[in-house]
Amino acid sequence: MSELMTTTYSMWRLFRNCRMACKWRYIDELVPLERDPNLAFGSVIHDCLECWHGERDLAKVLDHIDRTYPNRAQDDHQQADWHLARAMMSAYAEHYPAEEFEVVALEKTFEGPIVNPATGATSRSFILAGKVDGIVRQDGQYFLLEHKTASQIDASYLERLWTDFQIILYAWYLEQTLGITVSGIIYNVLVKAKLRQGKGETEAEFEARRAELIAKSKTGKSSAKRKLPEDDDTFQQRLQEKYLEPGMFHREVLYISRDQFEELRAELWELSKAMLDARRRNIFYRNTSYCFQYGRPCAYFQLCRSGGNPNVIENHFQRIAPHEELRDGAGEDAAPVF
Ligand code: SF4
Repeated sequence: MSELMTTTYSMWRLFRNCRMACKWRYIDELVPLERDPNLAFGSVIHDCLECWHGERDLAKVLDHIDRTYPNRAQDDHQQADWHLARAMMSAYAEHYPAEEFEVVALEKTFEGPIVNPATGATSRSFILAGKVDGIVRQDGQYFLLEHKTASQIDASYLERLWTDFQIILYAWYLEQTLGITVSGIIYNVLVKAKLRQGKGETEAEFEARRAELIAKSKTGKSSAKRKLPEDDDTFQQRLQEKYLEPGMFHREVLYISRDQFEELRAELWELSKAMLDARRRNIFYRNTSYCFQYGRPCAYFQLCRSGGNPNVIENHFQRIAPHEELRDGAGEDAAPVF
């Protein structure tokens, strides 16, 4: 392979965590047929935030959400995500009616060489590409704007932002590409409300509950009524009220230390050398301590367990060129598998 291979930080992170997973995704180009719904939701919100910060037109954002979930009337997952996205974005628009920063660019992509910082040598095998959610200017300084959707924001969540090396490396590349100095990162965190739409009771569930109430009642009677499903307007109202509570939106500013640039570039160079070696010898070892990293099996668990069985590939995977997140108009389906 002599031509330059485009890489992203996601690829290098995966290579560091499990070389075999990296091979499945970035060399064999395999993606499970079933995608992680959390990634898909985060991707929809990213699109909404791009639209909002670009035009500040809530009607347009809500329209985008409606078009993203066309089968919500028949599909419970779509219905739940549609509700959540609408409530989240409506409340976001109300929470931040004006911004202290000025938007310089949104969904900005870049591409640059991988360089050994010690010698200045450039990789002849790999380039690094990436995309940031936004570049903004505040008080005369440039910041990267990074959107995150989270289940909850607590001290450990905020502590972990320190380990987000991807965005710091991207800041270095953007500085080279645009000729600006990036002072830090503004993390724009939106919490996913955990409320669920009331489903109501089936006739059988109601009868069982009623019988229980009657058994406990001194009169041997009960005036209980069957619980009906919560209608869309009531649930949407309940969700929007939830978003009025403190802690549902958070902005955290982290300043970049310039030393981090050198360390990360040196790490990237080392990873690129290790990848060249793995690719030349076609040896991508497995890191089995990563198989259940996020409390669920890795997306390639079945494939690894089967020893790369072609039937497993055929029945459970599809081939999609990597780095979907870089493509123009990347939408819901573009959420990277890692
Ligand atoms: S299942 Fe485990 S060993 Fe296989 S690719 Fe995933 S993390 Fe690596």
